[in-house]
Amino acid sequence: MSFIPYSCQNITDEDIEAVNGVLRSEYLTQGPAIPAFEQAFATRHQTPHAIAVSNATAGLHLACLALGAGPGQRVWTSPNSFLASANCALYCGATVDFVDIDPRTRNLSMAALESKLVQAKATNTLPAIVIPVDFAGLPCDLRELRALADRYGFRILEDASHATGASYQDQPVGSAWADATVFSFHAVKIVTTAEGGMVTTRDDDLARRLRQLRSHGMVRDAAELREPPEGPWIYEQQILGFNYRMTDLQAALGLSQLGRLDTLHRQRITLADRYDELLSGLPLIRPIRLNDRESAWHLYAVEIDSARTTRTRAEVFQAMRAAQIGVNVHYIPIHTQPYYAALGFRRGDFPAAEAYYARALSLPLFPALTEAQQQRVVDTLRAALAG
Ligand SMILES: *Cc1c(COP(=O)(O)O)cnc(C)c1O
Repeated sequence: MSFIPYSCQNITDEDIEAVNGVLRSEYLTQGPAIPAFEQAFATRHQTPHAIAVSNATAGLHLACLALGAGPGQRVWTSPNSFLASANCALYCGATVDFVDIDPRTRNLSMAALESKLVQAKATNTLPAIVIPVDFAGLPCDLRELRALADRYGFRILEDASHATGASYQDQPVGSAWADATVFSFHAVKIVTTAEGGMVTTRDDDLARRLRQLRSHGMVRDAAELREPPEGPWIYEQQILGFNYRMTDLQAALGLSQLGRLDTLHRQRITLADRYDELLSGLPLIRPIRLNDRESAWHLYAVEIDSARTTRTRAEVFQAMRAAQIGVNVHYIPIHTQPYYAALGFRRGDFPAAEAYYARALSLPLFPALTEAQQQRVVDTLRAALAG
């Protein structure tokens, strides 16, 4: 039996040719492939600005800084996410806190957020930034979030690492609602540049700051210089920035992949629909479907329904792995990590995220997954749940 991974990159001959083209060209980095990828991404996502970065973690870090995160400020995010959604605020010296999830969507709960905001207002401890995460590719409740942001004065930094291709109320994720949206192009994600990320925003000033922070905090444009230039060689460092640039090799791969985004997304939708059908009747809680949004289907995550089976998640996980099926678990709640425990968080602090984690299992999902492989996943899972 061959191993079925939980995710797998989709690389075509065209992708390889695109990268080869850059290798034969004048620029390996800081060349024309980067603005070409940014422009295509911005157009596809109906937004004026897309800023390519070395990875989504770097994008989250820069976006936090550009949105003003710093010592003394609070940043709230979902505990049901990858570490980077919270670490990015700590990089800036800000304080991190979490808002529990809605067990139906597995995304940050609007009810929990609202009650936490009411309390925070009373104690003058409102957050500067909230980082919702589009878990598994399902867009978070952006309209409600925007209303709360306008009422309580926080900025929205959407972690859409899972959500390239997703849409909310018929608009692509990354086009509206959030102040900035970050996408990941890690190899397991929907579109890949091996490592890479993108930040989108409608805010001209934010876009300018993101570009400056991405490259050492420097500017070269005559219009942006503070001092009269001594000559055409002049660059000015005006703020403390980083080297978080994407290379032209990655951008060329990204541009080539982006051209297939709609196809890749359709393949994922077909596979998710098929899982829904094949898994009905099993003691599982399947991903929710909502009429006002379309998931990117980065993950197909189920919960073992303990009301209907005595099998535990650990048992099912082991049975699947023993049968050469690469299931995975997303996510260990961030606040339960030793590093966060040392900051004062405790098990029990965010019970919905913890309950979800205890039962969660991500099944293989990637465009090249065949019907026969999918059937094998389902048959193995059925046997594992029966015990
Ligand atoms: C993958 C991921 C990240 C980090 O992305 P990188 O590009 O690997 O830095 C951040 N947040 C979430 C939710 C992710 O899944």
